[in-house]
Amino acid sequence: MMKWTGLASAGLVTSSWGKTGESLFLHEGGDEFEDLRQLFNSDLSRKPAMIAACQDEVDVQLAVAKAIKLKLPISVKSGGHCFIGSSVNDGSMLVDLSQYTGMNYDRGSQKLVAQPGVKLGKMYDRLLSEGRLLPAGSCSGVALGGLTLGGGYGLFARQYGLTCDHLRRVRMVNGKGEIVDSDDDEDLLWACRGGGNGNFGVITSMEFDTQKAPEKLGAQRFKTKGLSEKGMVEVIESWFTIAAELPDPIFSAMVLNGSQVTVLLTSSYSTSGPAFQRAAKRLKDLGLVSNGALNTPIAKALRRYYGRPKPLPFYNASGGFYKGYENLEGKTEEIVRRVQQNPGLIFQVNTLGGAISRGTDSAYAHRKFPFLGEIQAYWRRPEDKLGLVNQVDAIQKIIQAQEHYRNYPSLKIENYSTAYYGAKLSRLQEIKAKFDPDNIFCHAQSLEGR
Ligand SMILES: Cc1cc2nc3c(=O)[nH]c(=O)nc-3n(C[C@H](O)[C@H](O)[C@H](O)COP(=O)(O)OP(=O)(O)OC[C@H]3O[C@@H](n4cnc5c(N)ncnc54)[C@H](O)[C@@H]3O)c2cc1C
Repeated sequence: MMKWTGLASAGLVTSSWGKTGESLFLHEGGDEFEDLRQLFNSDLSRKPAMIAACQDEVDVQLAVAKAIKLKLPISVKSGGHCFIGSSVNDGSMLVDLSQYTGMNYDRGSQKLVAQPGVKLGKMYDRLLSEGRLLPAGSCSGVALGGLTLGGGYGLFARQYGLTCDHLRRVRMVNGKGEIVDSDDDEDLLWACRGGGNGNFGVITSMEFDTQKAPEKLGAQRFKTKGLSEKGMVEVIESWFTIAAELPDPIFSAMVLNGSQVTVLLTSSYSTSGPAFQRAAKRLKDLGLVSNGALNTPIAKALRRYYGRPKPLPFYNASGGFYKGYENLEGKTEEIVRRVQQNPGLIFQVNTLGGAISRGTDSAYAHRKFPFLGEIQAYWRRPEDKLGLVNQVDAIQKIIQAQEHYRNYPSLKIENYSTAYYGAKLSRLQEIKAKFDPDNIFCHAQSLEGR
């Protein structure tokens, strides 16, 4: 087992970088308090009672002890990208981990130990410089903390599995203020592979297996041009058939935006390979056009998908998991119509399956689904917000999916615990009772609610 970095020995009253207990805590009024309560979704604004700006495990222990003493519920924030802001809650002790960002890659074991605030862009830079890769999401500002604990998928998940499938060990400060190491408690690792978001403790350190990074990423975009509503529906249906037959190294996304459908194909093999070429030909036969394929050195290629670094207002929600087009049959016409009529609205479906479906048992409950839907709304003028929010909710109702990705939360999902955790829920509830019997870790969609 490699060394855990940045962990001070338990029981200290002063944190490892010299902060005393009191200077760790921020109160309303200061600039740092304002900065740290900010979520990536700038449409949300929450006021914690107090913020603990934690930089190591001792800081986290101090914060949890203080919350217990003051009887404050605890929110945990790593990258702050939660759609519904479950990481920052009104009146809570906010354990902020955005500055808890140590990373250590060990060449011998090829393992990465990372602290929860590490952002995906930094993680890719560090590992790719070693020729290694941890399969994770695309957006550079998302943190490993929240992403891993809810699953974590991206361009390489079909080939290698989810981010949480690469998790080998974690440490956590639980709801009683105790440090738990998953090497001493197998429930903890099982739960953190898909069911750990703000549910029973603060994850302070994570050890991951890594994969050999491909040298290049192949990518090609295809777009529809001037299709009727019926034509777009046919393209979406055909995309499901094409995507279902892709080999594991190829990822695809279908994005319905305004009056066009865009299909992205990426591959960790060359785009000249037969499977990629077959899929490209089928898309062109449907009438989609493309400017051609690119095979780009991997670090440069990933940057293309890094997304916007600064907060923005949005309303995104899970569109649910699908087995195939049959789950959208008879619904796509209405979705296409609404997206066309409401600029700013996006309906996207990404491919899962492959190695995800073969992963080991864990709290991630949706391995059998090869597709994941997401409904998104972005606005520039505040007056456009309400209409778009209503459209997202309406599309979610039309789809009527029963199973949803925890990392794409929506407050409109009824029975959210069953939707996120399915058959894994009862074991997660037992684990919750063991680690956090007083439900001090809670938010609108935590295991016991708030
Ligand atoms: C722009 C954007 C792009 C995205 N792209 C992808 C993608 O490609 N693939 C994908 O799978 N998902 C993606 N997501 C979803 C993303 O995985 C989730 O929003 C994720 O939970 C964010 O993690 P975070 O640490 O940044 O967020 P936070 O808001 O800090 O945390 C999210 C949740 O995890 C909990 N949490 C965070 N850290 C800890 C910890 N250390 N211990 C215990 N609980 C913790 C929080 O309490 C909260 O409930 C994207 C989201 C956005 C906004």
